[in-house]
Amino acid sequence: MRWRSRLNRELKPLFSFRTYLNDLTTLGVGGPAECLARPLTQRDMEILLAFCREEGTPFWLLGGGSNVLVPDEGLPGITILTSGLNGVFWEETGDAVTVYSESGTLLASLLGLSLRRGWTGLEFAAGIPGTLGGALAGNAGAEGLSLGDLVRSVKVIQDDGNVRDRSRGEIDFSYRFSSLGLEGVAITGCRLVLKKSNPSEIAEKVRGFLSNRKGQPRGVKTAGCIFKNPEGSSAGKLLDEAGCKGLECGNAVVSMKHANFIENRGSASTKDILSLIDRCRTRVVQNSGVYLATEIRFLGNSLNAKIPN
Ligand SMILES: Cc1cc2nc3c(=O)[nH]c(=O)nc-3n(C[C@H](O)[C@H](O)[C@H](O)COP(=O)(O)OP(=O)(O)OC[C@H]3O[C@@H](n4cnc5c(N)ncnc54)[C@H](O)[C@@H]3O)c2cc1C
Repeated sequence: MRWRSRLNRELKPLFSFRTYLNDLTTLGVGGPAECLARPLTQRDMEILLAFCREEGTPFWLLGGGSNVLVPDEGLPGITILTSGLNGVFWEETGDAVTVYSESGTLLASLLGLSLRRGWTGLEFAAGIPGTLGGALAGNAGAEGLSLGDLVRSVKVIQDDGNVRDRSRGEIDFSYRFSSLGLEGVAITGCRLVLKKSNPSEIAEKVRGFLSNRKGQPRGVKTAGCIFKNPEGSSAGKLLDEAGCKGLECGNAVVSMKHANFIENRGSASTKDILSLIDRCRTRVVQNSGVYLATEIRFLGNSLNAKIPN
């Protein structure tokens, strides 16, 4: 294949072939990436995307893999793992704090930095795995707060290769939705606005958010909530009322602790998880007439063809 030999010649240190993605997703499912690239700088990312554009090679962005489902047959083209883009810079002016972070930085690292420096704003992110880029693509959040609320601007590489700083006003953020995710642009960094505060109050808030997660499964392979909450209701409650807890398919099971979580008990496949998603959705429609939209994102055209969001 032409693009692979060009990649070998021009971009060698950045990639590997046929790397299994189950190790890079929190659900622990997914076949091999035809090619897995690990950019370390903004420039690497620009070169990779220019390469994909010129060769017509499909590409997929993967952060912490905590909100995605990858096909069992793997992903064609280039899967771009963003974890190497993890620089963080900040400026404190009086009580105001502006943080610029690259998109592969873990939310947990940003929260840790906030705790150490006494910055308030990110406490809701306690317990949310994954990277800043993934969180921006889906507007991650908890208890009515979300990342979009803190954004001043987001740096993206557009389809045409142009690098742009999108201001907050140019981006739509709503409950688990971001227009950046819809567009599929590559997010390379973001400017967040936080505030100086009292470190012990920040730590107290973090403890509060963590304690509210006690009803969720821990120490097992999941991708967080599978479905979004429908307006005015809770997906977990609707799933529970429809008798979904404990439903199984192969090694995938709907958590007995929280019906909106699917657990991989060891060797589940993406196919198992897709069929559980389908069964849960059908039960909820039959029981309450509500069609649940998925929060989890599907990478790969074959999956998109199988399951509508
Ligand atoms: C135990 C557990 C608890 C969770 N709790 C919550 C919660 O409370 N609230 C919540 O909102 N979510 C929660 N999640 C889901 C998940 O952690 C978040 O959605 C997280 O923000 C996803 O980030 P990620 O880096 O893992 O993204 P990934 O799963 O790697 O990717 C998610 C999507 O973002 C895209 N993407 C990733 N990086 C980029 C980039 N740089 N540019 C453009 N697109 C990109 C991917 O292509 C994909 O479409 C939970 C997950 C787990 C496992």
